[in-house]
Amino acid sequence: MLLAEEREALVAAGRRLAARGLVIGTSGNLSARRDDLVAVTPTGAVISELTAEDLTVISLADGAVLDGALEPTSEVPMHLAVYRATGAGAITHTHATTTTAIGLVCDEVPMIHYVMIGLGGPLRVAPYATYGTQQLAEHVVAALSGRQAALMRNHGSIALGSTVAKSVDNLELAEWCAETYLRAATLSAALHGPLTGPGGVTPRELTAEEQADVINQVLAGGYGGTKKIGK
Ligand SMILES: [Zn+2]
Repeated sequence: MLLAEEREALVAAGRRLAARGLVIGTSGNLSARRDDLVAVTPTGAVISELTAEDLTVISLADGAVLDGALEPTSEVPMHLAVYRATGAGAITHTHATTTTAIGLVCDEVPMIHYVMIGLGGPLRVAPYATYGTQQLAEHVVAALSGRQAALMRNHGSIALGSTVAKSVDNLELAEWCAETYLRAATLSAALHGPLTGPGGVTPRELTAEEQADVINQVLAGGYGGTKKIGK
């Protein structure tokens, strides 16, 4: 069986995404790359019920099916385009509620929290195009430029990672950013009136200087992993 390890990681990711409410039924697709091979979820599959045998392995070069009995996801053009444009090892795409909602109304999730530096900055919204098309693939690649995640208008969100688990981490983080922004914007509207009207207050964004300070702090002391005391 080709890409056995990647298949197991994708199966686990599907369960994790469903447990956290980020994927419902068949509405999403996941993939992992090793060298010139890509393991992808099959079209029409319930993401939380996948087994390793259900996954399909395709060629990065032309999408040809190399292993598996099930037709790959209709979003193969998007997955392949993103791999060709980035060094990603995995891609997670779902129709999670808040990123989808924000994408209907806004052009980005602004820089509201320092953890967004790990995603590359404000999260762009890729313009709408029909699912499964090369046009959508191109919009998503552009929105992901220099980013680990992006929103997709009238559709959902997508995240990259060096591993499957990391791509799920990034999708969860993007959803958290969108949810936090939504709550802040909603609270602001309740307290101050329409954000863009007189007296409106948009959620505060980090300044360029504050962002630079965060990067310096990370470089000085590391971030995101446990550390032994005194090291
Ligand atoms: Zn989709």
